[in-house]
Amino acid sequence: MSAQILDGKAIAADIREQVKQHVEARTAKGLRAPGLAVVLVGDNPASEVYVRNKRNACAQVGFHSELIELSGDTTQAQLLTLVDELNARDDIDGILVQLPLPDQIDEDTVTERILPTKDVDGFHPYNIGRLTLRMPLLRPCTPRGVMTMLERTGMDLVGKDAVIIGQSNIVGRPMMLELLMARCTPMVCHSKTRDLADKVRQADIVVAAVGVPRFVQGDWIKPGAIVIDVGINRLDDGKLCGDVDYAACAENAAWITPVPGGVGPMTVATLLENTLQAAELHAAG
Ligand code: NAD
Repeated sequence: MSAQILDGKAIAADIREQVKQHVEARTAKGLRAPGLAVVLVGDNPASEVYVRNKRNACAQVGFHSELIELSGDTTQAQLLTLVDELNARDDIDGILVQLPLPDQIDEDTVTERILPTKDVDGFHPYNIGRLTLRMPLLRPCTPRGVMTMLERTGMDLVGKDAVIIGQSNIVGRPMMLELLMARCTPMVCHSKTRDLADKVRQADIVVAAVGVPRFVQGDWIKPGAIVIDVGINRLDDGKLCGDVDYAACAENAAWITPVPGGVGPMTVATLLENTLQAAELHAAG
C-alpha cells in the first residue's frame, strides 16, 4: 500500500478541541453556550446511532443540546409546529431534523421551514443557493468536512480534476459546489453516467458517495490521486465498509480515507462547527 491515510478521526478530534476552546471563550465573555435541538421522528436504528453520536459530540465541546423524540405517526403539521417553536427560541442556535422522515412527512417542506440561520445541516435552499453563488453561510456538513480533509493533505487543490460519484442533495451536489469554490474542475457522475471508470481514471480527486460496498475499483484510480470515501455500508457480518475497495485503491492513491474513521467523524465535527457559526450569527444579530 502506498497511500497515506487521511485520518478523519484525528482531524475531527482537532476540530472538536478548537470548537471547545471557542465555547470556553464565549462563556468567559458571559455569552451562553451554543444550543442545538435534534429532532428524531420514529424509531430508525441507524438514525438513533447518528443522533447519539451528534449529542455526545455536543456534550464534549460544552454545547447545550436537546433531543426531541416524536413517534413515527407524527403528522407533518405537528412537526412544522415544533420547527416553528424552535425557530422562535432564543436559546436554540441550530435545528437538526434527522432524516429520513416517515412517509407521511415531506422532507423538503420541513427543511424549508427551518430558519436558514439555524439550518446547521446546510440543506435549506437558501444555504445551497448561497454556496452556489460563492457566498456560503451554513454549508452542508459532509461536503464541508471533506473540504477540511482535502486541505489537511497540504496539496494545492487549484485546477485539480475531481470526479464525484453520486448526485444526492446532501453529498454529491454540494460537494460539486465546494470543489468548484476551491477552483477544482468537478464532474458529477451518477447511475446513468456512461464510461464511469474512464472518467474516474482522469481524476486527481475522487469522492465516492454511492451507497454500494467497494464500488470503486483499484484500477480506476490514477496514480497519486486523493480518494475520499463517503460511503457507509453495513455488511451482513455487521462490519462497516465504504464505497471504495480500500486495499486496492490505496495501491495507487496518494491519500485515502478509511471507513470507519474517515468522513463519518468529520461530518459530526463539522456539525459542531456549523452550530458554533450559527450561535455567532445569532449573537451578531
Ligand atoms: P443516495 O442514495 O441519495 O445517492 C447515491 C448516488 O449514487 C445517486 O446519485 C446515484 O445516482 C449514484 N449511483 C448509484 N449507483 C450508481 C452506479 N452504479 N454508478 C454511478 N453512480 C451510482 O446516497 P447519499 O445520501 O448521497 O449517500 C451515499 C453514501 O454515503 C451512503 O453509503 C451513505 O450512507 C453515505 N453517507 C455518509 C455520510 C458520512 O457522514 N460519511 C453522510 C451522508 C451519506
